[in-house]
Amino acid sequence: SSRNSAMIKEQREHLPIYQLKNDLLGAISQHRVLIVIGETGSGKTTQITQYLVEKGYTQKGKIGCTQPRRMAAMSVAKRVAEEYGCKLGTQVGYSIRFEDCTSPETIIKYMTDGTLLREALVDRNLSAYSVIMLDEAHERNINTDVLFGILKSTLERRKDLRLIVTSATLEAEKFSAYFNDCPIFTIAGRNFPVEIYYTQEPEHDYLEASLDTVMQIHLTEPPGDVLLFLTGQEEIDTACQILHERMSQLGNSAPPLIILPVYSAQPTEIQGRIFEPAPEGSRKCVIATNIAEASLTIDGIYYVVDPGFAKIKAFNPKLGMDTLIVSPISQSSAKQRAGRAGRTGPGKCFRLYTESAFKNEMLPSTVPEIQRTNLAMTVLTLKAMGINDLFHFDFMDPPPVQTLVSAMETLYALGALDDEGLLTRLGRRMAEFPLEPQPAKMLLTAVDLGCADEVITIVAMLSVPNVFYRPRDKQAIADQKRAKFHQPEGDHLTLLTVYESWKSHKFSNPWCFENFIQARAMKRAQDIRNQLLGIMERYNLPVQSAKSDYSKVRKAIASGFFSHAARKDPKEGYRTLIDNHQIYIHPSSSLFNRAPEWVVYHELVLTTKEYMREVCSIDPKWLADVAPHFFKKVDPSALT
Ligand code: ADP
Ligand code: MG
Repeated sequence: SSRNSAMIKEQREHLPIYQLKNDLLGAISQHRVLIVIGETGSGKTTQITQYLVEKGYTQKGKIGCTQPRRMAAMSVAKRVAEEYGCKLGTQVGYSIRFEDCTSPETIIKYMTDGTLLREALVDRNLSAYSVIMLDEAHERNINTDVLFGILKSTLERRKDLRLIVTSATLEAEKFSAYFNDCPIFTIAGRNFPVEIYYTQEPEHDYLEASLDTVMQIHLTEPPGDVLLFLTGQEEIDTACQILHERMSQLGNSAPPLIILPVYSAQPTEIQGRIFEPAPEGSRKCVIATNIAEASLTIDGIYYVVDPGFAKIKAFNPKLGMDTLIVSPISQSSAKQRAGRAGRTGPGKCFRLYTESAFKNEMLPSTVPEIQRTNLAMTVLTLKAMGINDLFHFDFMDPPPVQTLVSAMETLYALGALDDEGLLTRLGRRMAEFPLEPQPAKMLLTAVDLGCADEVITIVAMLSVPNVFYRPRDKQAIADQKRAKFHQPEGDHLTLLTVYESWKSHKFSNPWCFENFIQARAMKRAQDIRNQLLGIMERYNLPVQSAKSDYSKVRKAIASGFFSHAARKDPKEGYRTLIDNHQIYIHPSSSLFNRAPEWVVYHELVLTTKEYMREVCSIDPKWLADVAPHFFKKVDPSALT
């Protein structure tokens, strides 16, 4: 409506970046690479792309803007489409893994950095774009770091391409140095002072302490919304539930508290509500992952509660895989979090750690992802782009040599690289899929074994988190329902069974509800499945059914995950084949009470013990067959 568009116009003109529009466009026209720094909320992500359109940059190509997170790409595209006055997916769209919401008319495209990297795989010149904006580059996602190197060489070949790198923090000098001392454009933000409070003693239960702090703010502080940082979906859901309980105990004696969870796997209805102001007389409490640190700007926050932790991906060299671990944040993250309280007025930040911990225990800035995670997929992508000498690739911060070497070993064992370290035919095929190398291999083996139909479903189901719904107050019944799907050969086949049953119930939502299955996760698995089918069709790969010969399916799984093979330890638990490390079957697994002699697992989670999640029983005889290279390293007698 016209009232809405007048309001949007006013909001846009009120942003700090608006005053600098002409200066900024001048700088962009003069310099092919520009670093832009500015406070979160100054308008970088939503405005720059639109300014570029106004200035005519889309006559020869699209504006591409990368985000480190899927949800940020979606949410920002939605907002910009609204501002631009078009339907999402037309002129303004987004593209993230397994979900492309763009069309031929799209001129502003938001996407994850992973998506742009995959596009570079097909066209290293990225010729569809006239301007690329690497947004939130300070997050130093692995794909952003790789894109730095790719784009630096693309800029040499394409003199008409422009690059904008935005950052919220002080890494700008480093970015500028990397791009041959390109200029830095600063957008001064409006920032109010934020008072910082520390705890006197370390907190042993930060969740408990967070909730107490939120309640205390709500009951004693003047109006203003609260932002609490937690580490992940489960923790956030628990926190929301406890807060709801505490509020209902208080009844009408306290003003209403609107509790809003924010994490990536979340329904879009809630995502919209985060940005709506709380009604008069009530207070909003946003409970978010790191996404609210810089990628999403929520106005009206006066209070930040910062327990000082985030979940990060880290490579565990012993296990040869990435694990998500909850670890202390860096000082720069802590400052960024505190800053969220000072956007609308003077604010307060409650740090649930001591001042001495902040000063002496936290690192000054977060270690770039490329230096701490598994590089197998990155190496595969780079090799598929024809970049063979990875030791001399122009990384801003090169990964440790050992991590590169072990990524190459992984790919070699999977059969993706040959003895010379060059990509094999299989490796090239694997790179076509937007999947980690292990599931990609599993899928391609399934093609050979004639069971791709089932394995596509399994891969799709493994790609979505939390298919099973287990509310705190109905755990017993949820577990009972779940047990009905359990398959004696393991969790992969259980997931297949869930999908097949859903399908036979016409993909029904009520069926999900009755069976404690997350309908949203299922819908997403279905989307992913269709995407994968599309890729299979494009490459003429036959999608055949195993027709209930499920040993084929398990063999395909083993062909990707042989390095996750484990054998029963006569005393307790299991031992990994690679290094005899002790691990256990997760209690939620369908194999928990069966304990077959040999298994492969999808991932490990560390709680009280190291647990295998998604476990599949296998025949050890398959291993040498599906992974001959691997057994040059492992003594075959270990299998007998
Ligand atoms: P920056 O990238 O500099 O951090 P943004 O361009 O993301 O800034 O945000 C500019 C403004 O747009 C902020 O005030 C923010 O609250 C608002 N905004 C961003 N996304 C949405 C949304 N989905 N709904 C409503 N407002 C939004
Ligand atoms: Mg931004």
